[in-house]
Amino acid sequence: MILILKPNTQPDEVAPIEAFLTSNGIIVQDIVGESTHMIGMAGDTTGISEDKLLRFNCVERIVHVQEPYKLAGRKFRPADSAVNIAGRTIGAGGFEVIAGPCSVENQEQIVSIAKDVKASGAGLLRGGAFKPRTSPYAFQGLGLDGLNLLKIAREQTGLPIVTEIMSQEYIDVFARDVDVIQVGARNMQNFTLLRLVGEMRKPVLLKRGLSSTLVELLMAAEYVMSGGCTQVILCERGIRTFETATRNTLDLSAIPVLKSRSHLPVVIDPSHATGYWQLVAPMSLAAVAAGCDGLIIEVHNHPEKALCDGAQSITPGQFSELMDKIKRIRDIVRPTVST
Ligand code: PEP
Ligand code: MN
Repeated sequence: MILILKPNTQPDEVAPIEAFLTSNGIIVQDIVGESTHMIGMAGDTTGISEDKLLRFNCVERIVHVQEPYKLAGRKFRPADSAVNIAGRTIGAGGFEVIAGPCSVENQEQIVSIAKDVKASGAGLLRGGAFKPRTSPYAFQGLGLDGLNLLKIAREQTGLPIVTEIMSQEYIDVFARDVDVIQVGARNMQNFTLLRLVGEMRKPVLLKRGLSSTLVELLMAAEYVMSGGCTQVILCERGIRTFETATRNTLDLSAIPVLKSRSHLPVVIDPSHATGYWQLVAPMSLAAVAAGCDGLIIEVHNHPEKALCDGAQSITPGQFSELMDKIKRIRDIVRPTVST
């Protein structure tokens, strides 16, 4: 539901209605335009009668929102959201490339890759410490030791770190040490984890589930946001289709669809979407041309020896070449700023 307020409504008229709503467990979002003021309502509104709402003098009319996502939806926030991480901005015109290995393997590896990707213009460092592997016998990540190595790489380069949380066990450590909490594709519908991550109030990179629709992705974002977090980045990382030539199928149309339905930034992961390093550059450029707000790319200094996802990792040299091309495409599609 959205309450449309009468023109020239004063703040002291808005406060009582917002207090009434929050005391009934409703999450309230102010939607203030140049000459309009609306109040978005998220949560269980079944117990709140329209009569009661219309009794507040400042309420002109009530509009029902059909979409099941509210806080994540454009109707609740018409302007693009920006997620700010240590001076970097993703969304609302801000564009960043997140780069690094699939998994943190040792200090030399993560620090050397971090330095290389930074030199080529990456704004954030990725690296898995806790890895969701299909086989229980495959490398599971270095765990807390991996997190400590990421911190060393951050100290040495200044790059904020993006890493995946797998369970609630280390929630306090992630809250303290990690700049962007990644929720992986396999946990996109782990609703307990989504709620807890939302309560951390830190930037979250939320990956689309392997077989999830875009509405399901937006509902997962709604879980995170209903916990209080406003800094959510949506990530398309390829979905399961009948095609076997690639690891997954990159759904490029997710970019314009998500951006029309949601104000949240959209980042593309061409590495997991394709599974092959040869496809990472073309799909990155296509995603930039389609208007994404950033990319997350796997880079490894020795892909042939990588403990995880070597086949889809590009080298620092290839990353540097790709960054030059990304800048050129961005120059074409970047919204022009009028002076
Ligand atoms: C990853 O980014 O390391 C990862 C495991 O990705 P996804 O959850 O998209 O498979
Ligand atoms: Mn990977």
